Amino acid sequence: MATSTIDLVSLLDDVASSAQSTINTVPRVDEVDGDFDAADIPSAAAQRWVKIPDVVVVVCDLKGSTALGTGGKHDTTTARIYKSAVDGAVRILHEFGANYIDIQGDGGFGVFWGDNRYERAFCAGVTIRTFSDAWFAALRAKDATVPHTGYKVGIASERVLVKRLGTRNDLEEQEPVWAGKPVNFASKCAQAADVAELIVTDKVWDRLSSNDYVAFSCDCHGAPAELWEAVEVEVLPEDSRGAVRLTSAWCDTCGPSFCDAIMTGARKRASVTEAKRQEHDRNFRAALLAIRKRDAEHRYPKW
Ligand SMILES: [Zn+2]
Repeated sequence: MATSTIDLVSLLDDVASSAQSTINTVPRVDEVDGDFDAADIPSAAAQRWVKIPDVVVVVCDLKGSTALGTGGKHDTTTARIYKSAVDGAVRILHEFGANYIDIQGDGGFGVFWGDNRYERAFCAGVTIRTFSDAWFAALRAKDATVPHTGYKVGIASERVLVKRLGTRNDLEEQEPVWAGKPVNFASKCAQAADVAELIVTDKVWDRLSSNDYVAFSCDCHGAPAELWEAVEVEVLPEDSRGAVRLTSAWCDTCGPSFCDAIMTGARKRASVTEAKRQEHDRNFRAALLAIRKRDAEHRYPKW
């Protein structure tokens, strides 16, 4: 029989007094710029946090992954499903220059800061969404009974405070903690999305919607058309539920050149008229405003 070596009374005393001292101490916060390196995130032993003024977070979440891992399948099936999905998503986040990548079970998130962070994050998100189709096709080819699944993608942006938390002097037991809205909001957008959908908060949309390469479809099927749709993400707080959803993947033909254009800062296309841009702008402003207004009414009921 194992002998307990835990002194429960003193453990509880220690963690309670340590929590109290942390709660009572205002930590030092150092603001950094876009050149900040994730390797310099302060350790658990440090007193300070780092503040990054604006990060863009891309979360990818595999739909119904708990169901994929059950149903009498072999463990190796589940293992292959997880590895193939996560390997693809992580490789994509890495290639688009995510400054930090975190893997969580069957998915994970990338944190982007510095130059072109919105463009890099957006292109990574659409690429994960595109990869998800090919990934599921491969899965289905192997097992025709597998339920429809794939990545759901969410993107949000905001300032964050970050430091590593965990066992004080053991780096193996420390993980960066991103205090603030973006990881949480991006997760909720991914949660609200369905397979093959990408949902971005209205704050992210503000930064991307004036880019013709992002806002409109390619020229393969006639005149460029609207690709996005305003949606309400009900799991977000009431004043931040306005979001925008994309269901398209990169076009087989134009995807590479569009991705390249976005990544190199191109914004205008000859095939998109000024009238079309203005109509697009008006439509989204009205739709997002309607969501905000509905939420405000919901919050202050009149009777
Ligand atoms: Zn095309």
